[in-house]
Amino acid sequence: MAQRFQLAHRLSKLPPYLFAEIDRLKREAIRRGMDIINLGVGDPDLPTPPHIVKRMQEASADARNHPYPSYEGMLSFRQAVADWYGKRFGVTLDPETEVLSLIGSKEGIGHIPLAFVDPGDVVLVPDPGYPVYQAGTIFAEGVPHYMPLTRERAFLPELRAIPSDVLKKAKMLFLNYPNNPTAAVAPRAFFDEAVAFAREHRLILCHDAAYSEIAFDGYLPDSLLGVEGAEEVAIEYHSLSKTYNMTGWRIGFAVGSREILAGLGRIKTNLDSGVFQAVQEAAIAALSGSQDCVEAMCAIYKERRDALVDGLSAIGFVVDRPKASFYVWIGVPQGHTSASFASALLSEIGIVMTPGTGFGRHGEGYIRAALTVDVSRIKEAVERIAASSLKP
Ligand SMILES: *Cc1c(COP(=O)(O)O)cnc(C)c1O
Repeated sequence: MAQRFQLAHRLSKLPPYLFAEIDRLKREAIRRGMDIINLGVGDPDLPTPPHIVKRMQEASADARNHPYPSYEGMLSFRQAVADWYGKRFGVTLDPETEVLSLIGSKEGIGHIPLAFVDPGDVVLVPDPGYPVYQAGTIFAEGVPHYMPLTRERAFLPELRAIPSDVLKKAKMLFLNYPNNPTAAVAPRAFFDEAVAFAREHRLILCHDAAYSEIAFDGYLPDSLLGVEGAEEVAIEYHSLSKTYNMTGWRIGFAVGSREILAGLGRIKTNLDSGVFQAVQEAAIAALSGSQDCVEAMCAIYKERRDALVDGLSAIGFVVDRPKASFYVWIGVPQGHTSASFASALLSEIGIVMTPGTGFGRHGEGYIRAALTVDVSRIKEAVERIAASSLKP
């Protein structure tokens, strides 16, 4: 079909959509009546805990919650975030100036470059990484500089390897631990190094902690804001999405440097009108209520993780047992690329996983499995792989 309108250049600067082939194969497999096991999507299969749903039902019936909310969030919501931060991380936040509500953390991640990045400014983004760091940068006419995350370096970027001419133009640094897609975690020493690096090079440090509450084996992820001086150069993103199975509700928050949050807030006052107050009320119930639901969820993910990691290791895959997140980052067998292996898994045995290259060039050699299906289906996926020609 001839196009009447020319798309803006910024859209053509985005990398090509790498999942188009997987989407096509998936439709094809479904058409053939294949039983698909979908380990592709980073969206929890578990429901939002009932006490949160109940609070939402009450709050949505209250007419006081029906007008436009404030863009920065109700003070009671920001107070609940500050209380949760204090309890969970031992970090003190001023709810008036150091907490900002977001319509999901993706919104705040995508918008922050608009506040601070001028055309040609460099933004340091992890590769592989959550695609929004790069997309937000490109929409602000910034230039992404990709920091490789490799297994040899435990999927932590080598900050000292960033060339000095790049650093001179750099304005912002994105980090994400526990990490999507590699499931890696960051030791406290790395956060110390990152904050020192951001201070030395006048970088805005944006840490995405969306998976901080999904952790196993007694490991408890730190807040980057626990590092002394971080509150001057850094913000941290959180989300109710993964912690309370609330991806569809659209609520997250950013905390930390009041100067950085004020910049992001300037963009938001001009573009959005905040989060439905009933959703904020439900989020208060989530953050301030019992956290037993989070513990129960982690136990479920742990069982799934072990089924997948044990099963794949037993048949010869290179796969680390993640301490956190609901992903497993799997080395593809020799003779395969990420894309060829993902395609073969789907078309031959009906298993969807995400090729590592969908998250950046350095994702080559890996595929990502999301632990968002029942453990019985995960075991079946392993059995299908074991019985196929796709094992290493
Ligand atoms: C899922 C996810 C988020 C959360 O997105 P929301 O917009 O809050 O639903 C943020 N960062 C990463 C890396 C994620 O995987």
